[in-house]
Amino acid sequence: MMTPKEYEDSLRKLDLQVYMFGKRVENVVDDPIIRPSMNAVAYTYTLAADPAYRDIMTAVSHLSGKRINRFTHIHQSTDDLVKKTKMGRLLGSHTGCCFQRCVGMDALNALSIVTFDIDQAHGTSYYTRFVDYLIMVQERDLVCDGAMTDPKGDRGLPPHKQPDPDMFLRVVEEKAGGIVVRGAKAHQTGAVNSHEIIVMPTISMREEDRDYAVSFALPSDAPGITYIMGRQSCDTRKLEGGTMDMGNRFFGGHEALVVFEDVFVPWDRVFMYKEYEFAGKLVETFASYHRQSYACKVGVGDVLIGAAQTVAEYNGADRASHIKDKIIEMNHLNETLFCGSLACAAEGHREACGTYCVNTLLANVCKQNVTRFPYDMARLAQDVAGGLMVTLPSETDFRSPVTGKWVEKYFKGNASVSTENRMRILRLIENLTLGTAAVGYLTESMHGAGSPQAQRIMIARQVNMADKQKHAKRLAGILKD
Ligand code: SF4
Ligand code: FE
Repeated sequence: MMTPKEYEDSLRKLDLQVYMFGKRVENVVDDPIIRPSMNAVAYTYTLAADPAYRDIMTAVSHLSGKRINRFTHIHQSTDDLVKKTKMGRLLGSHTGCCFQRCVGMDALNALSIVTFDIDQAHGTSYYTRFVDYLIMVQERDLVCDGAMTDPKGDRGLPPHKQPDPDMFLRVVEEKAGGIVVRGAKAHQTGAVNSHEIIVMPTISMREEDRDYAVSFALPSDAPGITYIMGRQSCDTRKLEGGTMDMGNRFFGGHEALVVFEDVFVPWDRVFMYKEYEFAGKLVETFASYHRQSYACKVGVGDVLIGAAQTVAEYNGADRASHIKDKIIEMNHLNETLFCGSLACAAEGHREACGTYCVNTLLANVCKQNVTRFPYDMARLAQDVAGGLMVTLPSETDFRSPVTGKWVEKYFKGNASVSTENRMRILRLIENLTLGTAAVGYLTESMHGAGSPQAQRIMIARQVNMADKQKHAKRLAGILKD
């Protein structure tokens, strides 16, 4: 396994084409806007090397028998799935943000299932190819970006009917040694902190869309791939020098638009090629795994609850019964999210290839709750914190020889707590509910791994309604047994 330092050094060797604020980013690793997100991914290596977390953060490869980072592991049991949930919460609580590495883990596990299934149906050899690729990822302890979401253009039209045919990523040429692809993937979490990018289709497809039914993996710096960084609310605070106004002084996440401009993919890295009838299964399997992965939000919720309790104490309001009740409510919501992720893991099942997959219905229920509860928790945290969270002057004003004394004096709460510490915890709540981390904690909770309606469709499809009606009708005397 790599150390965090080796991970950072390995990123320095990549030649990524990254653009931000209209300019090419020459030094991605040290860029102050991007750096906190690299720190968060590096922490997946830090905790894996810590003996206290070995059981959660690492696993034994079913291929090599060697100990590997759990983020590169293929789940071999429901116990592995439960540990994956616990790993998400653990890292969320240590970083207070999106640590980005789950998408690759979920893509690898989904592909292990679907490449096997395609081979069974078509006599192809995708699974062997995929296993060779997986061995390389595990040996080198790589970070993979799992790239699913296409720009999608007009939502009412399938890929082949889009006025611009590139709105879904597609095959534009077949060559002797591989294929050429064009298109883009949007909202790519952790893209520029990744060694590899694993592309999958984003929706179920019909025969007319077969050129769009493609899955493959490429090194993240393959020729023709360009990254355009997404902005985050308050992102330029990272350029201001101090740490107070950042809220979280170490960690953050990032998303990027990844453009593929006629990129060559060798055959040994192609895992689906026009088998359109398997696009839907790959999407649903990846989505189910990733809906389980949102246990990360429980860890970030732990940080938010800790911050809300702390600010209540700093404000001198922690003994008020309504404040205590709001903190209880936050804990109730957060642990309910944890229950959903644990439940879909514990109720997982073995697929034909041997990989364990989560219970689809419960994974969708878990994620549906994630689209709501972090918003409720953010509201409660802002209620407990008070309006100062958004009206507080800057760190520079706090440090100013002219205004500092007034900021110090008038923003004092509980006399035993420094004004600086009160400001720091307020800024952390601001960061989590309105700032850079709110991308991951709120909007990503809404739309990441599929928007709320996607889960409702899956819930409707997965529940056994006939069984429910049978019980009701029997008890009411409509059905005689
Ligand atoms: Fe992992 Fe959560 Fe970030 Fe998705 S949002 S990559 S599950 S930490
Ligand atoms: Fe996500």
